[in-house]
Amino acid sequence: MANQLTRDIHLLPEREAFLFNERENNSSRCTHCEKIQQEIGEHSLVLYHGAHCTIKLSSMPYNTGHLQILPSRHVLLITELMDNENLDIMHATQLCVSVLEDIYAPDGFSIGSRTGTTNLNRLPQHLCFHVIPRWQGDVNLIEAIDTRRELDIIIKQAYLRLASAFENNVSRAVY
Ligand SMILES: [Zn+2]
Repeated sequence: MANQLTRDIHLLPEREAFLFNERENNSSRCTHCEKIQQEIGEHSLVLYHGAHCTIKLSSMPYNTGHLQILPSRHVLLITELMDNENLDIMHATQLCVSVLEDIYAPDGFSIGSRTGTTNLNRLPQHLCFHVIPRWQGDVNLIEAIDTRRELDIIIKQAYLRLASAFENNVSRAVY
């Protein structure tokens, strides 16, 4: 009986360590973490590396010019972000809006994030923010009846347009 109790006590810290380490282990298989390590370029669709985040063109856009902002650190929830990360991500959001206004002159933007298990895989994933240009009437019949979107761009062409605009905006950014 005494031996059983001792064994239980020694097992508990191992289980706790496993639970806390699981997230870190997952980050090594995270596609967003891999993306953050890639260089700016058409092959990666990465447009900008900030101090604490990366901006990329979405490869599965909801609309023309759909950009994604990935925190550099593997965090799952918005509440895990530190102040310096919040500031850098908000600066990156402003940069995205500025560039997209220059290139596409949209009527407005949808800006946001799905967190927790609301993604298609039903698994918590690396936090990601979306900046999506919107035009009056851009919700068409197909979107109303299906989840697919009719897109008027080729992703690579959009990347090349946005890449030069990001270069110009980064060079005149004040932060
Ligand atoms: Zn990650």
